[in-house]
Amino acid sequence: MTLHFNILTLFPEMFPGVLGQSLSGKALEKNLWSYQCVNIRDFATDRHKTVDDTPYGGGAGMIMRADVIENALLSVPAPGRKIYLSPRGRVLNQKLAEDLSRESGISLLCGRYEGVDQRVLDAHDFEEISIGDYVLSGGEPAAMILMDACIRLIDGVMGNKNTAGEESFADGLLEYPHYTRPASWTDANGQTHNVPDILTSGDHGKVKKWREEQSLDITKRMRPDLLNKNT
Ligand code: SAM
Repeated sequence: MTLHFNILTLFPEMFPGVLGQSLSGKALEKNLWSYQCVNIRDFATDRHKTVDDTPYGGGAGMIMRADVIENALLSVPAPGRKIYLSPRGRVLNQKLAEDLSRESGISLLCGRYEGVDQRVLDAHDFEEISIGDYVLSGGEPAAMILMDACIRLIDGVMGNKNTAGEESFADGLLEYPHYTRPASWTDANGQTHNVPDILTSGDHGKVKKWREEQSLDITKRMRPDLLNKNT
């Protein structure tokens, strides 16, 4: 099954952007996912192609018009799950990405200016998703992050199926530290750093146990909130 994204944006030329490279780029070539951009401006009805207007009630900035966005949405044959990228939305996490990666179609509405007229979100039951507690200048980078998190979970995108299962957040914990050759490395200050002995011992059981302990320890130190969530 492939996952198709409909991207409603004022900047279609931004896509696929980073998603056209590396893992997601190869997966795009293999049709493991696909996308289509809908240029919201094409659905403006006046000769100036206006997509925004001043906010009722006053205040700074401009608001994207409900009628223009609706026309853009209605041009999509199968919109699937409708998502508005928004700083006030439910914050994206690995569980939500896993859930989204199982969809066959997702429409992503990318806001600009001060955001979009509330009525179009209500009328078309948009779900709101945020990528974190900060404000971006537009929804396009947020859409790309959401898409990247989903694409790598689609069957066949990552070479080794187990990779996703062992990563940070998969089991509610952060990942253990990684090491590769050389086993002994001297840094620019002349200090030598050796790989932990256990990793070169060849004892797979001990390595597994060590990694589990490291995962727990790192999570305790760096993201204790994740442990509280799991209890
Ligand atoms: N006035 C809005 C507010 O205070 O919540 C911010 C609007 S922001 C400048 C323009 C657009 O960027 C939003 O409509 C949204 O689509 C997108 N955006 C900004 N921050 C985001 C975030 N943290 N997650 C997802 N989308 C975001």
